[in-house]
Amino acid sequence: SPVFQINDLHVKVEDKEIVRGLSLEIKGGEIHAIMGPNGTGKSTLASALMGHPAYEVTSGRVTLDGQDVLEMSVDERARAGMFLAMQYPAEVPGVSNANFLRTALNARLGAGNEVPVLKFHRQLQQKMKDLNIDPAFAERYLNEGFSGGEKKRNEILQMAMLNPRISILDEIDSGLDIDALRIVADAVNSLRSPEIGFLIITHYQRLLQHIVPDHVHVMMQGRIVRSGGRELALKLEQNGYDWLKQELGIED
Ligand code: ADP
Ligand code: MG
Ligand code: MG
Repeated sequence: SPVFQINDLHVKVEDKEIVRGLSLEIKGGEIHAIMGPNGTGKSTLASALMGHPAYEVTSGRVTLDGQDVLEMSVDERARAGMFLAMQYPAEVPGVSNANFLRTALNARLGAGNEVPVLKFHRQLQQKMKDLNIDPAFAERYLNEGFSGGEKKRNEILQMAMLNPRISILDEIDSGLDIDALRIVADAVNSLRSPEIGFLIITHYQRLLQHIVPDHVHVMMQGRIVRSGGRELALKLEQNGYDWLKQELGIED
């Protein structure tokens, strides 16, 4: 089962240091949540972990099962089993959902292990059914004209098909109504196993009523400033972030 380690990570965006010494260890079977006010660098962390070129890692170490993630290309990270569902999924005109997924899945499986076309389509149809996704989605262009909720469900479909070892969900809950939220949460819960670790980034505690995290971390000003169990998420939901800022002497 996977072990994902982040050690004293620093990330710059456009010459400004946004992630400022963040450490975290996620083991297979664990769900970690990162919460925090807007603008504290949560999405920057997620993008840097996946190797987005706009985010420059200036120091620190990230490993998956001891392998140096920061040395890997974006494709290599995906092949190693890292997955990111984004707050604002990109639209890709001209590429159907099904083709995108098959390409991504085959890249994940590696040369020589490609899934046969018919088997792929059977798997895709089953997962779409499980996730209450309209079968017509398979042939539509990736995210083009999808509603916010449809895009998020599509991200979860990608996750379910790719079977990642470390799954990072960045504000997957934003803009979801309660039904869509439950579908997303059910999908995460059904994928939960010792073979996968989750990092769930969220502004609100709402999602964590449906996906029970083992560890909750609060990120402020580019660092984890407090860690606890799910009770920490409840306390933040009830009292906001100000009490913690005061305790820590953080002003903004
Ligand atoms: P969060 O996800 O916690 O709301 P972000 O990581 O999105 O925070 O943003 C943290 C800071 O980094 C903000 O000040 C934001 O403006 C800046 N930032 C993030 N991404 C970019 C980018 N691609 N270009 C310029 N600034 C960015
Ligand atoms: Mg934000
Ligand atoms: Mg964000």
